[in-house]
Amino acid sequence: MSEPTIDLVVIGSGPGGYVAAIRAAQLGMKTACVEKYPVPGGTCLNVGCIPSKALLDSSERFDFTRHGLAAHGVRASAELDLATMMKRKDGVVRDLTRGVDSLFRKHGIERVEGTGRIVNAGEVEVTGAKGTRTLATRRILVGTGSKPAALPGIAFDGRRIVHSTDALTLPEVPKRLLVIGAGAIGLELGSVWRRLGSEVTVFEYLERILPGMDAGSVKLLQRALEKQGMKFRFGVSAKSARVEGGDVRVEVEPAAGGERTVETCDVLLVAVGRRPFTDGLGAAEAGIRMDARGRIEVDDHWQTSVPGVFAIGDVIAGPMLAHKAEEEGIACVERMHGMPGHVSYPCIPSVVYTWPELASVGASEEDAREQGLGVAVGTFPFLANGRAKAMGERDGQVKILADAKTDRVLGAHIVGPRASDLIAELAFAMEMGASAEDLARSVHAHPTLPEAVKEAALAVAGRAIHI
Ligand SMILES: Cc1cc2nc3c(=O)[nH]c(=O)nc-3n(C[C@H](O)[C@H](O)[C@H](O)COP(=O)(O)OP(=O)(O)OC[C@H]3O[C@@H](n4cnc5c(N)ncnc54)[C@H](O)[C@@H]3O)c2cc1C
Repeated sequence: MSEPTIDLVVIGSGPGGYVAAIRAAQLGMKTACVEKYPVPGGTCLNVGCIPSKALLDSSERFDFTRHGLAAHGVRASAELDLATMMKRKDGVVRDLTRGVDSLFRKHGIERVEGTGRIVNAGEVEVTGAKGTRTLATRRILVGTGSKPAALPGIAFDGRRIVHSTDALTLPEVPKRLLVIGAGAIGLELGSVWRRLGSEVTVFEYLERILPGMDAGSVKLLQRALEKQGMKFRFGVSAKSARVEGGDVRVEVEPAAGGERTVETCDVLLVAVGRRPFTDGLGAAEAGIRMDARGRIEVDDHWQTSVPGVFAIGDVIAGPMLAHKAEEEGIACVERMHGMPGHVSYPCIPSVVYTWPELASVGASEEDAREQGLGVAVGTFPFLANGRAKAMGERDGQVKILADAKTDRVLGAHIVGPRASDLIAELAFAMEMGASAEDLARSVHAHPTLPEAVKEAALAVAGRAIHI
């Protein structure tokens, strides 16, 4: 093995990898980041969080112009220019990925283009357009992320039978879009195309949307989405799909078993989750242990079974979220540096960017009760919040769960306008071990949406003012 010339090689430039590389460089490590695609940013910037939010924001404006503006006394008609909407989305992605490149330059991080393969704990072989090069390094950090999961019997064709990446670039609005999977990605992309004019039906194997999230809050969101015209069918399992004539024919079966039926649509979006991505990484050959679901196993320091090789983000266990990957990247690198890097897993918020949005942090009511915790629940509807009323937003509520004995906040679930922004206060409250009373006694500006958070905190003790 040659003498290491690099302190840390990061494989993958998604939010886990590129953020870890920047933190490592800040701490004085000579850092290289290997990425197989010509642009950095990973799933999140290129085909995930950012392009989906760009389309959600654009489609929300279109939908609001058509259906929401008149109530504000503004008469307008709207015509869709899908090509421009897509171009704008691509521009947002381009600006942000260029931003990562410039951050790399600022911090002296070398971006190495090509597929990285772990030879051993001190060597990464990179194969790219310019040939093969071996990087000798003191440590390796794997952040190779995830890819869309497929369903047996259903092959993607990129046009009519698609996964999330293709659904971000459809060339025209499908008349009938069938989505398999009522998780965050299915509901967000379903919302985009519904707002642009598709008839959207979501098929889900389970009896509910968004499994794992607070059941009561999820019901509120489902009702709001149904009001907008999204249709749901629960307890169904998709078995096969093929394009025949003008239709995609999807064979479905009741989840409990029974007779198969055929549903037709113009585009089928399979959004049944993501799988960890380690193809070409050489992890198993290098002796890195994986779990039964193909995720890299790590210890409390995010170190794999091979000393000196670490892993973070979607490729390890835990919620597949960009901010989780980022926090792990930072904490992992700080631990390498002898610092007390830490991730507060129970305080990681998750958001579904439909409209209304659903944002959650901490335990769901069912989880808290299952754990035998005495729970005090406070809720406050946006209908009674002055700012929401002024905005014309009527759907949803803030729900706060506190420990019945200590009043410590255990979880919070918000369905409503800008829930994604509102949840930050609650994540911070949980991180600080705050009580519902701490939230209730903090002064919130009037009239604002966060006043609904304060009122829900007051409601924990049965003393909300405005309801
Ligand atoms: C449609 C969609 C919407 C989403 N929306 C959100 C959201 O709103 N909020 C949120 O928190 N999360 C969202 N996510 C999830 C989020 O994108 C991921 O959790 C996040 O990107 C994971 O980051 P990562 O760094 O672990 O991996 P990734 O972002 O997947 O990056 C991994 C990188 O590694 C590279 N790579 C893989 N193998 C190699 C190799 N051997 N050599 C070199 N390079 C390699 C890949 O090319 C990729 O660039 C969304 C995902 C999708 C698909």
